[in-house]
Amino acid sequence: MAARMSAWESAQHQLAEAVRQLGLDDGFHDLLRTPRREVAVAVPLRHDDGHVEVLKGYRVQHNLTRGPAKGGVRFHPATDLDEVRALAMWMTWKCALIGVPYGGAKGGVAVDPKALSRNELERVTRRYCSEILPIIGPEKDIPAPDVGTDEQTMAWMMDTYSIHSGYTVTGVVTGKPVSVGGSEGRGGATSRGVMFAAFSALREAGVDPRGATVAVQGFGKVGGLAAQFLHDAGCTVVAVSDVGGGVYDGGGLDTAGLLRHVRAGAPTVVGYPGTDTITNTELLELDVDILVPAAMEGVIHDGNASKVRARFIVEGANGPTTPDADEILAENGTVVIPDVLANSGGVAVSYFEWVQDLQAYFWTEDEVNDRLKALMERAYGQVSALSAERKVSLRTAAQMIGVGRVAEAHRTRGLYP
Ligand code: GLU
Repeated sequence: MAARMSAWESAQHQLAEAVRQLGLDDGFHDLLRTPRREVAVAVPLRHDDGHVEVLKGYRVQHNLTRGPAKGGVRFHPATDLDEVRALAMWMTWKCALIGVPYGGAKGGVAVDPKALSRNELERVTRRYCSEILPIIGPEKDIPAPDVGTDEQTMAWMMDTYSIHSGYTVTGVVTGKPVSVGGSEGRGGATSRGVMFAAFSALREAGVDPRGATVAVQGFGKVGGLAAQFLHDAGCTVVAVSDVGGGVYDGGGLDTAGLLRHVRAGAPTVVGYPGTDTITNTELLELDVDILVPAAMEGVIHDGNASKVRARFIVEGANGPTTPDADEILAENGTVVIPDVLANSGGVAVSYFEWVQDLQAYFWTEDEVNDRLKALMERAYGQVSALSAERKVSLRTAAQMIGVGRVAEAHRTRGLYP
């Protein structure tokens, strides 16, 4: 069996298909696939016991043509430059697709945040932020949370940047706590968007969301609340999982209880009272209406795609399905709502947060949620229409719209000199 595609290979493969469909020439293809700026930094960390470890950190600004770069920062042991490149490229297409005036970026530190104390985590965050300071800023590049980082990470980054500037700069990061310039509704935005995307797809297929069965892989920031929102909207969430494994209840899980359980410090959902234990592999193969992969890249691949029985896959994570898997799923009639559409609620509300910070004028949670819903339904409608018109998958249609808008911006601005 051929080696599984990496995230960077998958991202390149998807871009090549969009470029082919759009009829762009090789020069344009090169321009679009090459990251504009890549920074690799050393992040020395003094551990609590006094020993020093030098971690590797990255920030990749994939494209800056439509506006400042935008994208999260990931703290994960497997993070490397190629992964960050892929994630940055996906941010470029995502921002263009949903019509927010940003390019795409991503950052990361190769570290396991769960193995660090809070003080160590703060030192890593502040040092990483200091190392990338020259290239970030509200008009240059605006980081946000991603896997392994959260609103506290963003508060430390905002503080570090502000101390160096000599005044408070709220707009340098998004996904901050509301007390320091964050937006109402940002915390649940990605998950809420997953629900809007799922329901748009169900509505189009004439499926009633009430009673639709759901399995969610990943019970973190995105998956946990996606399960909750889908449950609240009337779906039956039969399975959820995390790195420790999964839980199953065919009659519907107590999602609120599971969230409380995990928030109270339980290391895994496994063992939650009244549930059966399943593996992550089994979860992906459940016969459900909606499967939400909300963990890491590449979990649905050529080795397991033929076993997926879900009718809809709604990609809460970035890059959970490889191009090989996409082909198999399409043959089997599974509809994939692609990451750049399905999880775009996060960066959409990041944009709202940045706008509110720049204006120093803040909106209510209802205003944020209503604007998010309108934005996502518009994006879904555009993707679905192009997919029908060109007879391509929703992923290819979403990529075509994103890539096409970036290409158009390049064409309009012209090549300097
Ligand atoms: N990390 C999130 C994503 O992958 C959010 C990025 C942002 O808000 O800038 O879309």
